[in-house]
Amino acid sequence: MADIKTATVEEWQTLSSILATFRIKPQDGTRFPDYSPGQYMALRRENCRLTKKVVGPDGQPHYVTDVDASGKPKHGTVTHSYSIASAPYETQEKGYLEFYLVLEKDEFGERGRLSGSLFEINPPDDDKLTYVNRIVGDFTLNKRANGFKNVVWVGTGTGLAPFVSMIKQLDFQAARGATDGVRYTLVHTNRTYGELGITRNCSRSKRPAGSISSTSRR
Ligand SMILES: Cc1cc2nc3c(=O)[nH]c(=O)nc-3n(C[C@H](O)[C@H](O)[C@H](O)COP(=O)(O)OP(=O)(O)OC[C@H]3O[C@@H](n4cnc5c(N)ncnc54)[C@H](O)[C@@H]3O)c2cc1C
Repeated sequence: MADIKTATVEEWQTLSSILATFRIKPQDGTRFPDYSPGQYMALRRENCRLTKKVVGPDGQPHYVTDVDASGKPKHGTVTHSYSIASAPYETQEKGYLEFYLVLEKDEFGERGRLSGSLFEINPPDDDKLTYVNRIVGDFTLNKRANGFKNVVWVGTGTGLAPFVSMIKQLDFQAARGATDGVRYTLVHTNRTYGELGITRNCSRSKRPAGSISSTSRR
């Protein structure tokens, strides 16, 4: 049985109309599990737009908003995985996890079920989400790059998130004399300008120190 807990969103930073970072605090009286940079967690919201599969005139499957008998859109729970963009030392010191989110839009311009709901978060009025209290994944330096002296990271869009976690942790360790002698090179590309996350005029809160946008431009 999955261990589901409720988190509080304590920082939300809108970087563009489709891009945001946010930090969550664990359920009261608990802490997040230990993790390695590159791992991910399942997040969930209970008020998501639900969809159903239909086959279009082109014979292809499409997902459209599901409605009840009176024609009202149905809402319910959607759970997806999100890479952790904070570094383990931050979580140990300050307790939060950070995520880097893009607003999904389908071929009809409909907002993604969960990312659309996450983008409605507006602390402190609407600041809750649930999470599976387990951090998993083998996209870690230990599993993927152990023993290499040159490592090239290539990330598109929010695929930057695991690398941000790695960079922050390596930087933290290096400042304490624990360098690994490896040369790391990061290549980051995006499809659109909005996905660069450099438009700042729609912020809902102050950019937290050490957040994605500052780290990615170092
Ligand atoms: C390991 C991992 C890490 C990830 N990390 C990040 C991250 O750091 N940041 C980030 O922004 N995203 C991340 N993602 C992607 C994230 O998990 C979601 O897929 C994304 O946010 C879109 O979810 P959504 O509910 O908004 O979109 P959805 O509504 O799920 O739409 C996504 C696609 O699914 C189709 N779809 C819609 N309804 C259904 C249905 N009922 N059944 C099947 N398909 C349907 C849509 O047509 C669309 O093509 C990660 C994914 C994985 C696997």
